[in-house]
Amino acid sequence: MDKIIRCITSDGAVMASVINSTDIVFTAQKLHSTSPAATAAIGRLLSAASMMGAQLKQKGATLTVRIKGDGPLGTLVTVADSNGNVRGYLENSTCETEHYHKGKINVAAAVGKNGYIDVMRDYGTGEPYMSRAELATGEIAEDITSYYVQSEQIPTACGFGVLLDKEDGEVMLAGGFLIQLLPGADEAACDKLEKNISSLEPMTTMLAKGMSVEEICRTALQGFDVEIIDELPVHYVCSCSRERVINSIASLNNDEIEAMIEEDGGAEVSCNFCNKKYVFGSEDLRQIIELKNKKEKN
Ligand SMILES: [Zn+2]
Repeated sequence: MDKIIRCITSDGAVMASVINSTDIVFTAQKLHSTSPAATAAIGRLLSAASMMGAQLKQKGATLTVRIKGDGPLGTLVTVADSNGNVRGYLENSTCETEHYHKGKINVAAAVGKNGYIDVMRDYGTGEPYMSRAELATGEIAEDITSYYVQSEQIPTACGFGVLLDKEDGEVMLAGGFLIQLLPGADEAACDKLEKNISSLEPMTTMLAKGMSVEEICRTALQGFDVEIIDELPVHYVCSCSRERVINSIASLNNDEIEAMIEEDGGAEVSCNFCNKKYVFGSEDLRQIIELKNKKEKN
């Protein structure tokens, strides 16, 4: 079962999250039939978004992380809630996979090095907070780091891993960490943390050894007194519903809805995040127009 652990050091210098996101990334791979490069890219971003979402203090708030680079993958979108539950989709899920010479998937070649990372926090007030940073490398981890440094001035280190089966390409393990310096951090704490992180084994190596998220967190924070804030079970969860789809159809012009009735005899809308299909007959669409007209009169 996937989970996030969140820890803080007793001296108030460092905050750390570690996620085992194996099931989440496996689910995304199945839902979107992703190629290896697409699986690695969306897997890394889902892991990041889940940990970033879990940092939201307000219940019901959501966090969207979107990466749009100039590579063949196109746009990647992930949305997490304040419990770390997450969903995502990508524009070109079958994008070709290139490898570095050591066999590691070249995620940057798929994402592209030029582009933006956008983070939107929605607290349900109707006015989401948006911030944007330029992509650093297209490898996702460095892009998240660059976002925090550029847009939020928070020194951040993160790493992600997605391990695929050599035979069938299925997701075997996935996870990541997100470590941030707090304003109380002194130079000694920075140095200690830097050393820890540079000697940290790759995420999937630690998971493959059977290390728990807590053990990984304690290893990353070696030499610090660690206090666990919480441990959350997390899942791939989509929040789509027929009602939401009706609202999005209702946001179209009446002419556009009429055209669906006349030309197609209805509409079929499928959710980008979970592929669920919502079918509307002509009568359903007429009802939506009626409801719209009533609302507009009021
Ligand atoms: Zn859905």
